[in-house]
Amino acid sequence: MSEKFNVADIFGENVFNDTVMKERLPKNVYKNLKLAMTGVQELSLTDADVIANAMKDWAIEKGATHYTHWFQPLTGTTAEKHDSFISAPKENGKVLMEFSGKELIKGEPDASSFPSGGLRATFEARGYTAWDCTSPAFVREDATGATLCIPTAFCSYTGEALDQKTPLLRSMDAINEQSLRILKLFGNTHSKKVTPSVGAEQEYFIVDREKYLQRKDLIFAGRTLFGAMPPKGQELDDHYFGAIRERIGAFMKDVNKELWKLGVSAKTQHNEVAPAQHELAPIYAQCNTATDNNQLTMEVLKKVAYRHGLVCLLHEKPFAGVNGSGKHNNWSITTDDGINLLEPGKTPHENIQFLLVLGAVMKAVDTHADLLRESASDVGNDHRLGANEAPPAIISMFLGEQLEDVVMQLIDKGDATSSIQKGKLKTGASTLPDLNKDATDRNRTSPFAFTGNKFEFRMVGSADSIAPANVVLNTIVAESFKEIADELEKADNFDMACHDMIKKLFTDHHKIVFNGNGYTDEWIAEAERRGLPNIPSMVDAIPALTTPKAVKLFESFGVFTEAELKSRAEIKYEAYAKAINIEAKAMLDITGKQLIPAVIAYSTELANSVLAVKEAGADASTQADLLTTVTGYLKEMKTQLAALEKAVADGAEISNVEEQAKFFRDTVKTTMDALRAPADKLEMIVDKDFWPFPSYGDLLFEV
Ligand code: ADP
Ligand code: MG
Repeated sequence: MSEKFNVADIFGENVFNDTVMKERLPKNVYKNLKLAMTGVQELSLTDADVIANAMKDWAIEKGATHYTHWFQPLTGTTAEKHDSFISAPKENGKVLMEFSGKELIKGEPDASSFPSGGLRATFEARGYTAWDCTSPAFVREDATGATLCIPTAFCSYTGEALDQKTPLLRSMDAINEQSLRILKLFGNTHSKKVTPSVGAEQEYFIVDREKYLQRKDLIFAGRTLFGAMPPKGQELDDHYFGAIRERIGAFMKDVNKELWKLGVSAKTQHNEVAPAQHELAPIYAQCNTATDNNQLTMEVLKKVAYRHGLVCLLHEKPFAGVNGSGKHNNWSITTDDGINLLEPGKTPHENIQFLLVLGAVMKAVDTHADLLRESASDVGNDHRLGANEAPPAIISMFLGEQLEDVVMQLIDKGDATSSIQKGKLKTGASTLPDLNKDATDRNRTSPFAFTGNKFEFRMVGSADSIAPANVVLNTIVAESFKEIADELEKADNFDMACHDMIKKLFTDHHKIVFNGNGYTDEWIAEAERRGLPNIPSMVDAIPALTTPKAVKLFESFGVFTEAELKSRAEIKYEAYAKAINIEAKAMLDITGKQLIPAVIAYSTELANSVLAVKEAGADASTQADLLTTVTGYLKEMKTQLAALEKAVADGAEISNVEEQAKFFRDTVKTTMDALRAPADKLEMIVDKDFWPFPSYGDLLFEV
């Protein structure tokens, strides 16, 4: 029987949240911590000691034995080093459980084993983790027991950011400061802080663990490197929103429970387009928390799947020919007193502040389309973007009918005097209610779509952190806001100047708006005419990080130094070459040790059968034909195996990381495809008993 629990009771029970802090901290310490959280003042060591002690007591009550600084290095995942609370044994042999303010605030992991892109030589191992007091600490329960996790930023001895969180926090400062200037222009002096709100929808695949363990490609590369299409794919559209199977249902229930305990507000779950594919979306939270929560979500999905005899695949493209997974980053800008700067209201044409903000976002996205594209690039995402299942690799903005109409009125007539109103949807049956329609339909093919009161950036890969995308969004919009505020603050007649500004923003940047079908070839041609960048692969996207335009942007808001940007570019080139190298080596291993022996065994059986049939005096030509086909593909496989071995060896010789990444993309990857082709053909011919691992059909339909 399934266990029952009350969501309200367990929600956030493992989080050192505001309620717990209020309860357990002396009033003045609580107040000082709140001030530190808003960046007004630094926390004293005395206060930190009190907080650390309260945190420790609370965590121990939850069964925690260890604590860890939990951080997000540039590996795509999270890192942690566990220390137990125990102190050195006393003379009587007893130990105390201790946790000091110093241990809370600062950690010193050996930084030399994390990617730094040349920012730190291997011998300079020092790196620091610093407590991010704006993100709540939590107790995580798993096979290692219960651990107090302290979200931290991670930087080098010289202060350069080596992680995702540091630039994210910096970019949040930037957009806060500039948004307040915009609000002030409109006479708002009551809002004290502006924060980006983010909700990340997470897609993933679930496969059976027993089957997974038979596939070295999934184990080493996270995706299948071989595999013929099953007789049934996603063509029937019967999986999307389909009834959730029992085994998956039990898994999802556990995932939700774990996430709720951690204060992650998992809200919706459903089957996705591809078989075995699912989605989970939380209720949006402030940008930094949402980023931590998404990392936690990925961890929890994996751990809980394991407990259920399943495996969660977060890779962007686990199966060729089947839709891959992404992450939709819903983004808006909200004040501390609850105003959403992207809320158009019922009559957007009269909402001048909204129109100015919209113009600012248009300008930001148009000016920095290359950076936004780069922020969503990771190795796996190269299989999706532009492949007619995810947005194209061209950045454009979808506004929808209502806003597009307002924008066009302003551009064409100089004034917007009306907003198209939402209609009623006639259901046509007397027993069904007529529904109020949204003013605008959705457009699933747009990479950056306005969806009511937020923008949905749909390019991010499923395995990737959402931090880089939000760093870019926050900073480019901060830059727009700054340029606008610089001008409008000087204006004698604000209303006139603001009106002209909106018109200019719309006119200059309307070329980024596209409301049509982003999957068509016509759009690619049209985008080229408009001069919008079309950046097909990760390797081509990386240079956007270090252009003079990017350096100026990030340096002027203190989000990245030029050295940090260069290091990130280097890390990404390296990550690309390494990932493809692992895939190629996994293919060599699988081909040499599993596929070729299997095909030889099968062809030997075929040959014996040809002889036996002939000896019996019957016609063996069918068997003989089959044997010729099989040995033909076998030969092809052997040839491509040798070619791939050579390509990998050649790639290893290249020392320049950019050149190496390009070589892996242009030569190694194409050779991998050439090796896969005969193998997939053989899978369709060779007796299933001989094939060494489960097929796509087994993996996708037998969970
Ligand atoms: P859909 O799949 O229809 O886009 P979902 O409900 O799956 O919708 O996901 C929408 C996501 O957007 C949720 O995470 C939700 O909390 C988030 N969201 C809603 N409003 C805002 C907002 N103002 N700012 C940021 N995120 C938002
Ligand atoms: Mg969505």
